[in-house]
Amino acid sequence: MSAQTDHSNPICGALGCHETADVVIRHPKHGKRTVCDNCTGGHVVIRHV
Ligand SMILES: [Zn+2]
Repeated sequence: MSAQTDHSNPICGALGCHETADVVIRHPKHGKRTVCDNCTGGHVVIRHV
């Protein structure tokens, strides 16, 4: 747990993950999700945050 909390960035929306979000993906069930690079799950990246 060495990551610093950056209040200017959202937190990854994946369950149980508290990393800083890096990208917005289009999830087939959940729609747009803001997640970190490790939680894209191979889904389409809409944009970076
Ligand atoms: Zn994550």
